[in-house]
Amino acid sequence: MIELRDVVKSYGAVTALAGVTVRVEPGELVAIVGPSGSGKSTMLHLAGTLDRPTSGSVRVAGHEVSALSDRGLSALRAQRIGFVFQQFHLAPGVTVRDNVADGLLYTGVARRERRARAAEALDGVGLGHRLTHRPHELSGGERQRVAIARAVAGRPSLLLADEPTGNLDTASGAEVMRLLRALHDDGTTVVIITHDRELAAGLPRTIAMRDGRVAA
Ligand code: ADP
Repeated sequence: MIELRDVVKSYGAVTALAGVTVRVEPGELVAIVGPSGSGKSTMLHLAGTLDRPTSGSVRVAGHEVSALSDRGLSALRAQRIGFVFQQFHLAPGVTVRDNVADGLLYTGVARRERRARAAEALDGVGLGHRLTHRPHELSGGERQRVAIARAVAGRPSLLLADEPTGNLDTASGAEVMRLLRALHDDGTTVVIITHDRELAAGLPRTIAMRDGRVAA
């Protein structure tokens, strides 16, 4: 599902990734851990085709990222990849249902179908009764469940989550993890950046980053 080979990513004089080689197989559930600044988010961004490497090869779902145009990458993301972030990134003032439906804008699905799929995805995260609420009317845990619904409404094969429980209380974090595990059980490949050692220890595989390299 993800294959990074000898990947270097530099931002000016800063080397965020200093030669990373790693594979994630279809259907895996993986934690990425490591100190702040070790390159975790950079790796997730590259795996999500949000950015391109300075050198080395990134393959996602069988596609060599450097061989695709920006348009091709957008299509790959829209069809195959879902994202969840620590800060939720929901549009304020927009209903929960439209937040999720708008995540399908680039998939070529018609509006009515987008809204139907959004309602279905929200039902799947236990928020079928909150369709017309605005994000500010929801708790942090509920907002993150909306973000998960948005990430999975397009039925991606790869879900990338950057500190998805970082802003949540223990109970809401556990609920978010339960949802991510359920997606994994359904066959989705799930990669989670986390600072939470206990959470990471409970996952089948951990990739530990240090100074822009895979340490373990
Ligand atoms: P982590 O997610 O492990 O905290 P990051 O991947 O965010 O680490 O960052 C790795 C390094 O790259 C850090 O030194 C960070 O400051 C730097 N970095 C990340 N993104 C950028 C950027 N857009 N511009 C400049 N430096 C960046």
